[in-house]
Amino acid sequence: MRSEAMAPTPRTSFMDDHDHDDAGREGHDYSSPSSSAFSCGTSEGSRIWCNRADTMGVIMATMALAALAYGEFVVLWVVFFTGNFVIANAVIYTILTVMAVWCHLKTMLSEPGVVPRAALPLREESEEGAAAANHTLCGRCESYKPTRAHHCRLCGRCVVRMDHHCPWMNNCVGIANQKYFILFLFYVLAVTGYAIGLVLYHFVECVAEEYCDDYSTLTANLIRAVLVIAAAAMVFTLSMLLNQFHGVITGLGTVDRMQRRRKEGRVRGGPEDFRPLRWADIFGDGNKLMWIFPTDPHFRKPQRERILGFREPPAARRHDYEDV
Ligand SMILES: [Zn+2]
Ligand SMILES: [Zn+2]
Repeated sequence: MRSEAMAPTPRTSFMDDHDHDDAGREGHDYSSPSSSAFSCGTSEGSRIWCNRADTMGVIMATMALAALAYGEFVVLWVVFFTGNFVIANAVIYTILTVMAVWCHLKTMLSEPGVVPRAALPLREESEEGAAAANHTLCGRCESYKPTRAHHCRLCGRCVVRMDHHCPWMNNCVGIANQKYFILFLFYVLAVTGYAIGLVLYHFVECVAEEYCDDYSTLTANLIRAVLVIAAAAMVFTLSMLLNQFHGVITGLGTVDRMQRRRKEGRVRGGPEDFRPLRWADIFGDGNKLMWIFPTDPHFRKPQRERILGFREPPAARRHDYEDV
């Protein structure tokens, strides 16, 4: 990997062999500012963050939301058309589903921690600033590339602490939306566990009390499908949640680990280059009660710069961080 001083040397494009997306797929470059102030995209000019470049991502993210909606539909169907599930179950299940959908939409439609073109390295008196002494420019979007940022070709931007580009979210998971992603996994785990528990409990009960025949063929098939979808989703989200915990504890995201594995023996430095993430760096340094809701995490300015690993000119500062 080549590195190059940023100032006073003029910006020069160069290829950084760490630049890639986790799936290795080509995407559109949205790094140039958008012409419309109200556009939806991943460029700096977009008012709403969304990835329109990856059709498969749009389909998979829609499927994830459809699966949650299907589970909700079946539980309500059983409650209101057979009366075999008590209504309290429907209320709890609906709350968990709403939380999961809320987290999904926040993960999908939040910028994941992208580096603006105007970004500057941290001052070198700080620990992170010293680490940025050998800072690099991204060869694709030409923005300053903080330590542990990766360029995503599907989003066309450099993302701070990019964990991976998730097609189920149709977005990168990075430092700025990891809270929503972890909460999404947690609520999906809860909702799928609840669905499986509900179905198995009532199956045992209907066999014991001999009322299984009360269910129509349609209802029985709807419930079987929920069981299969919930079991598959539960295994997947549990493995993803463990992967996220591992990433936070080790400070190595999914892309970091893939790079180290691929380049084992050629990567300079060792595990000491990486430090565990602080949970407060993901969930915010505000009220911890808000950690269970996918609300914007609160950070004070010094924390913001330390977490992001770069400085922004005042005009470029993002709204979700307190400028004090
Ligand atoms: Zn980049
Ligand atoms: Zn991405």
